Amino acid sequence: MNLVLFLLGLAVGSFINMAVWRVEHKQSILKKQRSFCDFCKKPLRFYDNIPLLSFLVYRGKSRCCGKKLPIYYPVVEMFTGILFALKSLPNPLFEERGGIVLLVLWSIWALLVFEAMFDIRKMMIPDATAIPLIVLAELRRRLLGLPVSEWWSALGAGLFIWILTKIKIKGRQAMGEGDALLAVFMGLFLGFPKNIVAFYVAFISGAVIGLILIAKRKKKQLSPIPFGPFLIFGTIIAYFWGEKIINLFF
Ligand SMILES: [Zn+2]
Repeated sequence: MNLVLFLLGLAVGSFINMAVWRVEHKQSILKKQRSFCDFCKKPLRFYDNIPLLSFLVYRGKSRCCGKKLPIYYPVVEMFTGILFALKSLPNPLFEERGGIVLLVLWSIWALLVFEAMFDIRKMMIPDATAIPLIVLAELRRRLLGLPVSEWWSALGAGLFIWILTKIKIKGRQAMGEGDALLAVFMGLFLGFPKNIVAFYVAFISGAVIGLILIAKRKKKQLSPIPFGPFLIFGTIIAYFWGEKIINLFF
Protein backbone atom coordinates (compact mmCIF):
# COMPACT_ATOMS: atom_id res chain seq x y z
CA MET A 1 0.00 0.00 0.00
CA ASN A 2 2.68 2.48 0.99
CA LEU A 3 4.70 1.84 -2.16
CA VAL A 4 1.64 2.47 -4.32
CA LEU A 5 0.98 5.71 -2.46
CA PHE A 6 4.64 6.70 -2.82
CA LEU A 7 4.43 6.15 -6.60
CA LEU A 8 1.18 8.13 -6.72
CA GLY A 9 2.96 10.93 -4.83
CA LEU A 10 5.86 10.82 -7.32
CA ALA A 11 3.42 11.25 -10.20
CA VAL A 12 1.65 14.12 -8.41
CA GLY A 13 5.05 15.72 -7.71
CA SER A 14 5.91 15.45 -11.38
CA PHE A 15 2.59 17.12 -12.25
CA ILE A 16 3.36 19.90 -9.75
CA ASN A 17 6.73 20.54 -11.44
CA MET A 18 4.95 20.83 -14.77
CA ALA A 19 2.29 23.09 -13.25
CA VAL A 20 4.92 25.42 -11.73
CA TRP A 21 6.72 25.58 -15.07
CA ARG A 22 3.54 26.31 -17.02
CA VAL A 23 2.30 28.98 -14.61
CA GLU A 24 5.73 30.64 -14.69
CA HIS A 25 5.60 30.63 -18.48
CA LYS A 26 1.97 31.80 -18.47
CA GLN A 27 0.61 28.65 -20.05
CA SER A 28 -2.55 26.82 -19.08
CA ILE A 29 -2.07 23.89 -16.71
CA LEU A 30 -5.10 22.05 -18.03
CA LYS A 31 -4.38 22.38 -21.74
CA LYS A 32 -3.32 19.02 -23.05
CA GLN A 33 -0.06 19.24 -24.88
CA ARG A 34 3.01 17.16 -25.34
CA SER A 35 5.96 17.91 -23.14
CA PHE A 36 8.95 19.57 -24.69
CA CYS A 37 12.54 19.80 -23.56
CA ASP A 38 13.00 23.05 -21.59
CA PHE A 39 16.17 23.79 -23.58
CA CYS A 40 16.05 22.55 -27.17
CA LYS A 41 12.23 22.26 -27.42
CA LYS A 42 12.39 18.72 -28.81
CA PRO A 43 9.31 16.70 -27.85
CA LEU A 44 9.93 14.35 -24.95
CA ARG A 45 9.20 10.63 -25.07
CA PHE A 46 7.22 9.04 -22.28
CA TYR A 47 10.40 7.53 -20.83
CA ASP A 48 11.96 10.98 -20.49
CA ASN A 49 9.19 11.90 -18.12
CA ILE A 50 9.17 9.07 -15.59
CA PRO A 51 9.34 10.76 -12.18
CA LEU A 52 12.67 10.39 -10.40
CA LEU A 53 13.80 7.49 -12.62
CA SER A 54 14.50 9.58 -15.74
CA PHE A 55 16.46 12.03 -13.63
CA LEU A 56 18.56 9.23 -12.12
CA VAL A 57 19.12 7.32 -15.38
CA TYR A 58 20.23 10.42 -17.34
CA ARG A 59 22.11 11.72 -14.28
CA GLY A 60 20.14 14.94 -14.06
CA LYS A 61 20.59 15.89 -17.70
CA SER A 62 18.13 16.10 -20.53
CA ARG A 63 18.44 13.09 -22.86
CA CYS A 64 18.16 15.13 -26.06
CA CYS A 65 20.73 17.85 -25.52
CA GLY A 66 22.52 16.98 -22.28
CA LYS A 67 21.64 20.21 -20.45
CA LYS A 68 21.53 20.12 -16.69
CA LEU A 69 18.01 19.87 -15.27
CA PRO A 70 17.11 21.78 -12.11
CA ILE A 71 17.65 19.73 -8.97
CA TYR A 72 14.27 20.79 -7.63
CA TYR A 73 12.51 18.47 -10.11
CA PRO A 74 13.46 15.21 -8.34
CA VAL A 75 13.38 16.88 -4.90
CA VAL A 76 9.73 17.94 -5.37
CA GLU A 77 8.84 14.47 -6.70
CA MET A 78 10.59 12.70 -3.84
CA PHE A 79 9.06 15.01 -1.21
CA THR A 80 5.54 14.58 -2.61
CA GLY A 81 6.06 10.81 -2.79
CA ILE A 82 7.02 10.64 0.89
CA LEU A 83 4.15 12.96 1.84
CA PHE A 84 1.62 10.67 0.12
CA ALA A 85 3.17 7.54 1.63
CA LEU A 86 2.81 8.89 5.18
CA LYS A 87 -0.35 7.81 6.92
CA SER A 88 -2.65 10.79 6.37
CA LEU A 89 -5.57 9.22 8.18
CA PRO A 90 -5.85 6.44 10.74
CA ASN A 91 -7.21 3.43 8.79
CA PRO A 92 -8.93 5.52 6.13
CA LEU A 93 -10.68 2.64 4.39
CA PHE A 94 -12.52 1.52 7.50
CA GLU A 95 -13.80 4.92 8.47
CA GLU A 96 -17.01 6.45 7.33
CA ARG A 97 -16.23 9.08 4.69
CA GLY A 98 -12.54 8.10 5.03
CA GLY A 99 -12.07 7.89 1.26
CA ILE A 100 -13.37 11.40 0.63
CA VAL A 101 -11.36 12.85 3.50
CA LEU A 102 -8.25 11.19 2.09
CA LEU A 103 -8.89 12.75 -1.33
CA VAL A 104 -9.30 16.14 0.35
CA LEU A 105 -6.01 15.62 2.21
CA TRP A 106 -4.16 14.62 -0.95
CA SER A 107 -5.48 17.73 -2.71
CA ILE A 108 -4.24 19.78 0.25
CA TRP A 109 -0.76 18.19 0.09
CA ALA A 110 -0.54 18.82 -3.67
CA LEU A 111 -1.60 22.47 -3.33
CA LEU A 112 0.83 23.02 -0.44
CA VAL A 113 3.80 21.63 -2.40
CA PHE A 114 2.83 23.73 -5.42
CA GLU A 115 2.48 26.81 -3.25
CA ALA A 116 5.86 26.25 -1.57
CA MET A 117 7.61 25.85 -4.94
CA PHE A 118 5.85 28.87 -6.39
CA ASP A 119 6.80 31.00 -3.37
CA ILE A 120 10.44 29.87 -3.58
CA ARG A 121 10.64 30.74 -7.28
CA LYS A 122 8.38 33.80 -7.52
CA MET A 123 8.33 35.16 -3.95
CA MET A 124 4.55 35.16 -3.79
CA ILE A 125 1.62 32.97 -2.83
CA PRO A 126 -1.09 33.14 -5.48
CA ASP A 127 -4.70 33.61 -4.28
CA ALA A 128 -5.56 30.82 -6.71
CA THR A 129 -3.97 28.35 -4.29
CA ALA A 130 -4.47 30.17 -0.96
CA ILE A 131 -8.28 30.31 -1.24
CA PRO A 132 -8.87 26.71 -2.41
CA LEU A 133 -6.76 25.55 0.56
CA ILE A 134 -9.11 27.33 2.99
CA VAL A 135 -12.12 25.83 1.16
CA LEU A 136 -10.59 22.33 1.39
CA ALA A 137 -9.83 22.78 5.10
CA GLU A 138 -13.46 23.80 5.67
CA LEU A 139 -14.65 20.79 3.67
CA ARG A 140 -12.46 18.52 5.81
CA ARG A 141 -13.83 20.15 8.99
CA ARG A 142 -17.39 19.39 7.88
CA LEU A 143 -16.61 15.84 6.74
CA LEU A 144 -14.99 15.06 10.09
CA GLY A 145 -17.78 16.81 12.00
CA LEU A 146 -15.40 19.18 13.79
CA PRO A 147 -16.98 22.16 15.60
CA VAL A 148 -17.40 25.58 13.95
CA SER A 149 -15.28 26.95 16.80
CA GLU A 150 -12.21 25.71 14.84
CA TRP A 151 -12.63 28.98 12.96
CA TRP A 152 -11.40 30.87 16.04
CA SER A 153 -8.10 29.10 15.61
CA ALA A 154 -8.15 30.04 11.90
CA LEU A 155 -8.92 33.71 12.56
CA GLY A 156 -6.37 33.89 15.39
CA ALA A 157 -3.64 32.42 13.20
CA GLY A 158 -4.52 34.69 10.28
CA LEU A 159 -4.56 37.75 12.51
CA PHE A 160 -1.19 36.81 14.03
CA ILE A 161 0.53 36.64 10.63
CA TRP A 162 -1.43 39.64 9.30
CA ILE A 163 0.01 41.76 12.14
CA LEU A 164 3.49 40.51 11.17
CA THR A 165 2.88 41.66 7.57
CA LYS A 166 2.67 45.22 8.96
CA ILE A 167 6.23 45.01 10.24
CA LYS A 168 8.72 46.43 7.82
CA ILE A 169 12.43 45.84 8.05
CA LYS A 170 14.20 48.68 6.27
CA GLY A 171 11.09 49.39 4.22
CA ARG A 172 10.60 45.80 3.19
CA GLN A 173 7.65 43.69 4.20
CA ALA A 174 8.84 40.64 6.13
CA MET A 175 5.70 38.69 5.27
CA GLY A 176 3.00 39.07 2.65
CA GLU A 177 -0.78 38.89 2.57
CA GLY A 178 -0.46 35.43 1.02
CA ASP A 179 1.22 34.26 4.22
CA ALA A 180 -1.74 35.58 6.25
CA LEU A 181 -4.18 33.62 4.06
CA LEU A 182 -1.99 30.56 4.46
CA ALA A 183 -2.14 31.06 8.23
CA VAL A 184 -5.97 31.10 8.14
CA PHE A 185 -5.79 27.73 6.38
CA MET A 186 -3.27 26.43 8.95
CA GLY A 187 -5.45 27.44 11.89
CA LEU A 188 -8.53 25.80 10.41
CA PHE A 189 -6.70 22.68 9.21
CA LEU A 190 -4.59 22.03 12.30
CA GLY A 191 -6.70 23.54 15.07
CA PHE A 192 -5.35 24.69 18.42
CA PRO A 193 -2.71 23.88 19.71
CA LYS A 194 -1.22 22.10 16.68
CA ASN A 195 -1.18 25.41 14.77
CA ILE A 196 1.16 26.78 17.46
CA VAL A 197 3.51 23.84 16.80
CA ALA A 198 3.39 24.67 13.08
CA PHE A 199 4.32 28.34 13.66
CA TYR A 200 7.06 27.30 16.06
CA VAL A 201 8.57 24.87 13.52
CA ALA A 202 8.21 27.51 10.78
CA PHE A 203 10.05 30.22 12.71
CA ILE A 204 12.83 27.90 13.92
CA SER A 205 13.41 26.30 10.51
CA GLY A 206 13.18 29.70 8.81
CA ALA A 207 15.80 31.14 11.16
CA VAL A 208 18.12 28.15 10.70
CA ILE A 209 17.89 28.15 6.88
CA GLY A 210 18.18 31.95 6.82
CA LEU A 211 21.40 31.83 8.83
CA ILE A 212 22.81 29.02 6.67
CA LEU A 213 22.06 31.02 3.49
CA ILE A 214 23.64 34.14 4.93
CA ALA A 215 26.75 32.21 6.00
CA LYS A 216 27.06 30.26 2.76
CA ARG A 217 26.40 32.81 0.09
CA LYS A 218 27.54 35.73 2.21
CA LYS A 219 24.37 37.33 0.97
CA LYS A 220 23.23 40.68 2.17
CA GLN A 221 21.52 40.07 5.45
CA LEU A 222 18.20 41.39 4.20
CA SER A 223 17.95 39.59 0.89
CA PRO A 224 14.39 38.28 0.90
CA ILE A 225 13.63 34.67 1.74
CA PRO A 226 10.03 33.59 1.20
CA PHE A 227 8.35 32.56 4.44
CA GLY A 228 5.56 30.47 2.89
CA PRO A 229 7.65 27.29 2.46
CA PHE A 230 8.51 27.34 6.19
CA LEU A 231 4.85 27.78 7.16
CA ILE A 232 4.03 24.85 4.87
CA PHE A 233 6.85 22.74 6.30
CA GLY A 234 5.59 23.55 9.82
CA THR A 235 2.03 22.60 8.79
CA ILE A 236 3.14 19.18 7.54
CA ILE A 237 5.26 18.48 10.64
CA ALA A 238 2.43 19.59 12.94
CA TYR A 239 -0.17 17.54 11.08
CA PHE A 240 1.76 14.27 11.32
CA TRP A 241 3.74 14.73 14.54
CA GLY A 242 2.07 17.67 16.30
CA GLU A 243 0.67 15.62 19.17
CA LYS A 244 4.00 13.89 19.80
CA ILE A 245 5.78 17.25 19.83
CA ILE A 246 3.22 18.72 22.27
CA ASN A 247 3.59 15.68 24.55
CA LEU A 248 7.35 16.21 24.60
CA PHE A 249 6.90 19.60 26.22
CA PHE A 250 3.85 19.11 28.47
ZN1 LIG B 1 16.89 19.12 -25.10
